[in-house]
Amino acid sequence: RKPVIAIDGYSSTGKSSISKIIAQKLGLVHLDTGALYRGITYFALKNCLNADGEINLQELFNRFNEIELEFKPIDRELVMFLNGNDISTDIRTNEISQNVSLIASQKEVRDFLLDAQREMAEKGGVIMDGRDIGTVILPTADFKFFLTASVDERTKRRFLELQSLGIETDENTVRENLISRDKTDSEREVAPLRKAHDAITIDNSDFTKNETVDLILSYLKG
Ligand code: C5P
Repeated sequence: RKPVIAIDGYSSTGKSSISKIIAQKLGLVHLDTGALYRGITYFALKNCLNADGEINLQELFNRFNEIELEFKPIDRELVMFLNGNDISTDIRTNEISQNVSLIASQKEVRDFLLDAQREMAEKGGVIMDGRDIGTVILPTADFKFFLTASVDERTKRRFLELQSLGIETDENTVRENLISRDKTDSEREVAPLRKAHDAITIDNSDFTKNETVDLILSYLKG
């Protein structure tokens, strides 16, 4: 049976891009669970605003049955679809990043996504990245890693990533968003961002993406 690998950590530590490379090398499926929370946030911002332009959480919870999130394989990558539409770029905007941690801190939202995430890992051969994969979603994963890096380094990486997607932003906005998301994600009551007790911590501030990949591969090979 192919392994189940959990990758958690702070925002913009390279969890997704590193997981993607490892998945390609080992023939695993890579699941970016952050895209699910971003997808729900996208739905909420489109459909569940009150008169002040704030997200109405109760309305969102009442409309879960209208949300169909799906990872579709396109060019050997999994692309996030909401109700049949490709939202993979739309979910990277500042507006989504600034609202997603509030949405992700709701127990109703986490419950809504729980079983689907576990089912995706049932058959093995999966590398799943997020914030609570090693602690809550897949506590019995074969391998668990927890990624961290300095705020400066993470700001630089996220800024370059957004630029390459053609999303307008500046380094200060990116930095403040990282810090505030990490804080909300770590302090929330349900499934807070935590290192699992049996996870291996990797601080990759001074590593290239490929160096982190190689380090993780060396652990996987034992
Ligand atoms: O990984 P990404 O930065 O796209 O995640 C966006 C947000 O989704 C995180 O800041 C966090 O609030 C939430 N998230 C979560 N649990 C996960 C993955 C993401 O709460 N497993």
